[in-house]
Amino acid sequence: MTGAISSSASPQHGLTDRLARWARGLSGKSEEEDESEPEQRPRAGGASNREINRRRQLYADIGDFLFAHDLDLTPINFSVALDYLTGANIGVEKAIRAVMMERGKITNGWIETIAAEQRADEVTPESLASMLDKVEENLTQFTGLMHESRNSAKDYGAALQEQAKDLTSGGDNEPVLARLVGLTRSMVEKTRQVEGQLRENQKQTQALKSSLESARRAAEHDHLTGLPNRRAFEGVLREEVVLAQAQHEALSVAFCDIDHFKRINDTHGHDTGDRVLKFVAGLLAKISNDRCHVARHGGEEFVMLFRGKTAAETCEAVDGVREDLANRSLVNRTNGERMERVSFSAGVANVLVYEDARAALKAADRALYLAKEHGRNRVYLAAETD
Ligand code: GH3
Ligand code: MG
Ligand code: MG
Repeated sequence: MTGAISSSASPQHGLTDRLARWARGLSGKSEEEDESEPEQRPRAGGASNREINRRRQLYADIGDFLFAHDLDLTPINFSVALDYLTGANIGVEKAIRAVMMERGKITNGWIETIAAEQRADEVTPESLASMLDKVEENLTQFTGLMHESRNSAKDYGAALQEQAKDLTSGGDNEPVLARLVGLTRSMVEKTRQVEGQLRENQKQTQALKSSLESARRAAEHDHLTGLPNRRAFEGVLREEVVLAQAQHEALSVAFCDIDHFKRINDTHGHDTGDRVLKFVAGLLAKISNDRCHVARHGGEEFVMLFRGKTAAETCEAVDGVREDLANRSLVNRTNGERMERVSFSAGVANVLVYEDARAALKAADRALYLAKEHGRNRVYLAAETD
């Protein structure tokens, strides 16, 4: 069991490691041994019978939970069930309770969402600070190693010169040469040691770099659609305002919100709702480039920023995507049935005519509200006096 978990566990490090440890604990002893051992006597592995029975019960409860909800036997499902049943993770417990209240049943898709949210939460300021501390430590170590290596090269040069002075032409140079050989040997040995330490340092730095990169990605990307999230978008918006102002370019923002999305969830299920979200995200992302940024603002709402396009041109571009989506007839992959048309409404505002970016976002949101009011599946331009 442990092998199966670790072999398929790469995307869920923290959770899976814990699960693997827990599973190793479970399989620590055979059945016969458990029955013959007296209660409470510590065992070779350190666990008492009571502890083993507790684990066994938990194992059975996890199995029942997975079976009752018809969940696949995946590491992530085991792990979330474990967190739920032991109360080890309040976030997971709360999310599962809420889903059970709402729908009565948990699905594989829900578990993935819950787990991904927990993973995103794992990128705390503390974990980032600790990674940065390690980077600093590695850098200090690296600088120290470089100093050490330079100093020992200098010492070696000086020692060589000192010894070379004793070389005489025609005299007995053997003891001097022996000392020179000895010096060279120790220098080679020292260099080898420093090289080994540098390689180790480099390996650690590389590992830290990739941890930081995944932390940065998790902090700035929406796990469902893969689009930048609201936080990332706010950063981009600040930068783009500065660029557009400096280069006297237009800058417009659009809020897009899927119409009657709740109905899609209610009719076809949350997993299908998720797939629709991904699909719409993909359509919007298709028109993005280095002057058009798309992000998931939250829920079924997306935000887009266009540099070099006036608000009217932005309306046109967004309307193109709206029309494309509204003309498609999507099929529910779960049952092969054709779905009702999916559409979105949008509100567009010219960022630079408002007091600040926040006011422009509000204006776009008001225009979106009007687009909904007037029948949905349409794109509205905000009045600049808003
Ligand atoms: P409107 O046309 O007025 O926008 O109606 P609506 O139903 O789209 O809007 P409402 O705000 O009433 O419902 C949005 C729904 O989106 C409610 C929420 O459960 C759902 N939702 C939010 N995030 C997700 C998600 O990640 N996946 C799925 N499947 N549903 C989500
Ligand atoms: Mg909404
Ligand atoms: Mg909506």
